[in-house]
Amino acid sequence: MLLLIPGPVTTRPEVRQAMGRDLAPWDNDFRQFLARLRGRILRLAGGTDPAHAALPLQGCGHFVTEAALRTFLPPGGRILIPATGAYGNRMIRLAQEAGRVAVPLPMGPADAADPAAVARALADDPTLSHVGLVYSETGSGVIHDVPAVGAVVRAAGRRMIVDAVSAFGALPLDLSAQPEVDAVVFTANKCLEALPGIAFAVARADRLRACVGNAGSWSLDLADIYAGTLQFGAGSFRFTPPAQVLAALDRALDFLDAEGSAARLARYTANMRTLYDGVRGLGLVPWLPPERQGPVIVNVHVPDDPAWDLQAFVDALKSRGVLISNFFTTPAPTFRVGCIGAITPADMARAVQAIDAALTDIGVTHREAVHA
Ligand SMILES: *Cc1c(COP(=O)(O)O)cnc(C)c1O
Repeated sequence: MLLLIPGPVTTRPEVRQAMGRDLAPWDNDFRQFLARLRGRILRLAGGTDPAHAALPLQGCGHFVTEAALRTFLPPGGRILIPATGAYGNRMIRLAQEAGRVAVPLPMGPADAADPAAVARALADDPTLSHVGLVYSETGSGVIHDVPAVGAVVRAAGRRMIVDAVSAFGALPLDLSAQPEVDAVVFTANKCLEALPGIAFAVARADRLRACVGNAGSWSLDLADIYAGTLQFGAGSFRFTPPAQVLAALDRALDFLDAEGSAARLARYTANMRTLYDGVRGLGLVPWLPPERQGPVIVNVHVPDDPAWDLQAFVDALKSRGVLISNFFTTPAPTFRVGCIGAITPADMARAVQAIDAALTDIGVTHREAVHA
């Protein structure tokens, strides 16, 4: 089965096999393993020890995003969040529910976050201490310019939190060149091509030390994870970790090292192109114009045909070996296809054929978009 949902992604058998044994997370062998794994993650983010720390947190991307918001903003603290789409909105909600004040920066659903608009908003409101930016907006498929937005944040003397959940491992990131970033957050199960269950923040050590006591949560406190690291070592966890998931991640990083992030991005871009051009060839209409389309996920307008039914389409595709989401995250109805994971353009060509056949299976004959 090709898993194109996108995340968790299709993984290599070697990565899944790395999970196949019992592990004791407090054992000295595991502690050594974990300390080394954290070093690998730190280097991938362009972080250096001891200026930065790679902090693992059990769970999913929302958990570590909330942890970063809680840790680096005090209760009542104010953060500007460009409303990039579904995941920008999730960051806004996470901040609000944690008792921080999220100030949305309105923008078009297919636009890239505008550094000049961020600069203006920061100049207009000196009480905004932070900007939160989604690097790859999985809701739309648009990639946002983290260095360009970071530069205006830095110039304004403010701080930044980056949701790189669907970017990290493929899209470039260099924390050593972006001192305004308090933390970048991500999980193992997207562009790192590993399994779900573990999230990471790579964060600045000086800021972690300065933000002790902000979180108002023991579970979701990055400063406490960092303090534990200093006290008990980089091989330690505060609470039981998903040890097998970490073992699988380590194996997945071997494949990332062998491929290289730039080549991985090129592969994802080729996957996207095969899909994007392929669905157009079928008479379907992608939601984004080509110049806005990022390499991670392609949303496709649903066909203007009374036979269209998303769940029926998803089921028909699944019976042909391709699994996509049974929901959409764009303002207009779409279906979404991920381009990331241990997959190649040949897999995407197979997915295009399956999409063609599945549309016929459910009786769609008119493939043009409702709203295009
Ligand atoms: C997948 C994703 C998340 C987190 O999702 P979880 O289901 O919590 O792991 C956050 N932000 C972006 C941009 C994502 O793509």
